[in-house]
Amino acid sequence: MIEEILPKSFDDLIKDVHELGICGECGGCVSFCSAHEIKAIEMSESGPPRYYNKDNCLKCGICYLICPQTHVLDKELNEKYNYKVSIGNWLKITTNRASSKEILKNATDGGSVTAILNYLLDHNLINGAIVSKKEVPFNRVPFFATSKEELIEAAGSHYDLSQGVVGLEKYNTFIPTITKLKNVVNSDMMNIAVVGTPCQIMSIRKMQELSILPAHIIKYTLGLFCNLNFSFSSEGRKELEEEFHFSFNDVEKMNIKEDLIITLHNQKTIHIDFDELGRITRAACYACRDFSNVYADISFGGLGSKDGFTSTIVRTKIGEKIYNNALKEGYIKEPNEFNTSIKKSETLAKIIGFGKRKYERYVKSMKERL
Ligand SMILES: Cc1cc2nc3c(=O)[nH]c(=O)nc-3n(C[C@H](O)[C@H](O)[C@H](O)COP(=O)(O)OP(=O)(O)OC[C@H]3O[C@@H](n4cnc5c(N)ncnc54)[C@H](O)[C@@H]3O)c2cc1C
Ligand code: SF4
Ligand code: SF4
Ligand code: SF4
Repeated sequence: MIEEILPKSFDDLIKDVHELGICGECGGCVSFCSAHEIKAIEMSESGPPRYYNKDNCLKCGICYLICPQTHVLDKELNEKYNYKVSIGNWLKITTNRASSKEILKNATDGGSVTAILNYLLDHNLINGAIVSKKEVPFNRVPFFATSKEELIEAAGSHYDLSQGVVGLEKYNTFIPTITKLKNVVNSDMMNIAVVGTPCQIMSIRKMQELSILPAHIIKYTLGLFCNLNFSFSSEGRKELEEEFHFSFNDVEKMNIKEDLIITLHNQKTIHIDFDELGRITRAACYACRDFSNVYADISFGGLGSKDGFTSTIVRTKIGEKIYNNALKEGYIKEPNEFNTSIKKSETLAKIIGFGKRKYERYVKSMKERL
């Protein structure tokens, strides 16, 4: 219960999250700090957030409550979203892809995320969506997309290297999109969608549970599967280039499915197992237990689908409604062959398998840290 958790403060976040090395640097605590106007805490150049002026801290505990690594409110969220171990609730599991050729051309997998966002925009169900878009070849930034063109700009994971390998030294596959939330609000009447990793969607659900503004404007949450995220330090990159015989200058696209898939300009693909990626994996991700984004309205990933398709788990009634309408109106298509129970159970088994392994990894990692 929330009453039993309070009072907590940023000191407790330092003790329970930062000192265990599990801060994911999502920026949520800084963005939604109750003392934001007078500035109590700030992001640091590298590493977890820090006090800017400790005297300004109101000891309200909001930062502690919304941090995805504290696991307070798990019970409340699990009840509300009908959580079942490792995979969460699901009303439908399927594979699909966007009908639009333009979306498909730019998408990571089947472009279904972009196609459903496009459906929401076309029907004025949202004013825009918080996504992430490429700023320089190897750097994505949180972005509020309000048109189909902007959604397409933000889709996919291609890297235009015409400007050289710009940004790779700071490249992190985790993008703190949640920090964008405060900047997009210009009216209480806005409706928006958010695309995010499981940790980001969890923060949003916690904010909604606690009625922290502006979480009320988020009407749809589209979650991405997420096993691990990576930070491409120069040493880590060099080691990968040497071991797997490629150059980041030749990379056209990176995707994460059952492993990290690097596609080169000559269309050669290199698969690197997650176990080989320890040198560039963000430490916080080992302490994360949700693979398939259990609190989202709909979750999406490449795992379990053939190339060019997106595996999709429809979880909530809201998710079901928009999924079915997007399908009915032709924004997305499901291949016929998937409508067999064998294909469905194969996909489901893969997702459950990854979910279980991620949970076990979390338990092991926390045992080692505590
Ligand atoms: C960091 C990360 C890790 C992932 N790990 C896995 C995995 O382990 N296994 C797996 O099967 N799938 C994983 N996925 C999901 C997969 O890569 C695809 O995003 C998913 O299948 C949807 O594909 P799509 O073609 O339908 O999406 P698209 O139509 O291409 O749309 C993708 C949307 O995600 C947004 N986006 C891109 N990067 C980020 C980011 N870092 N944070 C928030 N939003 C972002 C884009 O702006 C876009 O709106 C991961 C995705 C990300 C971003
Ligand atoms: S004011 Fe509240 S949200 Fe901000 S740092 Fe202090 S306890 Fe955390
Ligand atoms: S994980 Fe996010 S919310 Fe938690 S302490 Fe780190 S930056 Fe703050
Ligand atoms: S592995 Fe977990 S903590 Fe890391 S980016 Fe993915 S959801 Fe967030």
